[in-house]
Amino acid sequence: MKLKRIAILGSTGSIGRNALRVIDALNSSPVARDSSLKETKTQYEVVALSGHSSVELLAAQARKYRPKYVAVTNADCVEAFRELIGDLDVEILSGPDALTEIAELDEVDVVLTAVVGAAGLPALLAAAKKGKTLAIANKEPLVIAGELLTGTAKENGGLILPVDSEHSAIFQAMQAGAHEEVRKVILTASGGPFRTATMEEIQNVTLEQALSHPTWDMGPKVTIDSATMANKAFEVIETRWLFDMPMEKIDVLVHPESIVHSLVEFVDGSLIAQLGLPDMCLPIQYALTYPERVEGIAKCLRLEEIGKLTFEKPDLEKFGALALGFEVGRVGGSAPVVFNAANEVAVEEFLAGRIKFVTIVELIEHCVNKHDVKRRVSLEEIYEADAWARREVIECLKQKAF
Ligand code: NDP
Ligand code: MG
Repeated sequence: MKLKRIAILGSTGSIGRNALRVIDALNSSPVARDSSLKETKTQYEVVALSGHSSVELLAAQARKYRPKYVAVTNADCVEAFRELIGDLDVEILSGPDALTEIAELDEVDVVLTAVVGAAGLPALLAAAKKGKTLAIANKEPLVIAGELLTGTAKENGGLILPVDSEHSAIFQAMQAGAHEEVRKVILTASGGPFRTATMEEIQNVTLEQALSHPTWDMGPKVTIDSATMANKAFEVIETRWLFDMPMEKIDVLVHPESIVHSLVEFVDGSLIAQLGLPDMCLPIQYALTYPERVEGIAKCLRLEEIGKLTFEKPDLEKFGALALGFEVGRVGGSAPVVFNAANEVAVEEFLAGRIKFVTIVELIEHCVNKHDVKRRVSLEEIYEADAWARREVIECLKQKAF
C-alpha cells in the first residue's frame, strides 16, 4: 500500500469540502478488485487542515479526520475552535504564519491549496521551496507570482498539479503531444450569469443575480469573479505560468454548458479536449491520484443526455475585466498583481453591498491605469504593488470617486 499524506489549506471552503469527499471515496473504493493489485492501492491520509472562520465545520472535520495539525487563520476564532475540540489530540496553529507552517511540515507530501485570494501565496512558496507536490486550486498566487512560484517548484524538484477545472483539462490534453507542438491553448468559459445580458442590464444587476452561477457551485469570491469574467482573466494568466505558454497562444472561448473544460490545439490541427460534467470532484481527484486514474465519485458524462454543445467568442467590450486581464498578462511584472489586489478588495465591497457590480471593473481599471508598472518583480515588490492597489481602492471609495 502507498500512502499520500495531505494538507488541505482551506478545508472549510467549497473546494476543501469536495476534496475531503474525494478522499473519503478514494480511501473506501474497492480499486484493487484484482488481488494482485492490492499492494499498489494508495491511501490518503489527512495530516493537516485549515479554516478561517467556520470553526464549527472545522471542528467537525478535525473530529472526523483526526489530522495532527489544524490551522485557524482568523486569530479571533482560535479560542472558539479550541473549546470545540478540547478533548482531541491535535496541534492548533494560528496567526499569519500558520498556513506556511503546515505547508512546510515534513509529514506532508501533497499540499492542496484551496484558500481564497493572495493570502495563499506564502504557504505555496514555502511548500514549493520544500519540493512538495502542490495541488493548486487557489489561483490568485499564480496570477500575482506565477513566475516565482513555478520557478521555485522546478528548482526544488516539486510538482505542480492544477485543480482548476480548465487547467486540469489542459494538463490532460497536453499529454497528447510535445510542448513545442502546441499551437494554441483554448480555455473555455461558461460566460457566467450575465452572458446574454445587455450592457444596460449589467449596470443594475443585484448581488443575488451575480451569485447565481448557471453551471458551477463555488465559493462567493470566485462566483463573482465568474460573473465579471475576471476569473477567466486570472485563468489565462494561470495558464501562462502553469504551462509556460506565451500569452499570444492563449485564447478564450465561451461555452455555456461547461462540459468541454478546455482544449489544446496542436500544430497538425488536432484539437484535444477534456470533457466531463461541471463537478470539481473530478479535477480534484485527478490531482490527488495523478499519475494514476481510479474510479471515483464524479458522475459520468453521457453526451446523449446533453445533446448539444455550443461555443461563441467572448464579448470583450461587455466583459472589460477579461480584456484588461489579457492586457495585464501581456505586460506582466506588477500589472497582474495590481489587477488581482484591486479585484479582491472591490469584490469584498460588492459582497458587502457597498458598491455596484459594474464598479468592480471600474476600480480595477482605475488602479491598473494609475499604476507605474515594474517589469521584473521580487517578492517584496509583489507585496508592495498588492498593498498599493488595496490602499488605492479604499482611498477611491473614501473619496467617493466611484
Ligand atoms: P470558499 O470561499 O468556498 O473557501 C475559501 C476557503 O479559504 C475557506 O476554507 C475559508 O475559511 C478560507 N479563507 C477565507 N479567507 C481566508 C484568509 N484570509 N486566510 C486563509 N484562509 C481563508 O472558496 P472556494 O473553495 O470556492 O475557492 C478556493 C480557491 O479555489 C479560490 O482561489 C478559487 O478561485 C479557486 N477555485 C475554486 C473553484 C470552485 O469550484 N469553488 C474552482 C476553481 C478554482 P472559512 O470558510 O473557515 O472562513
Ligand atoms: Mg476554473
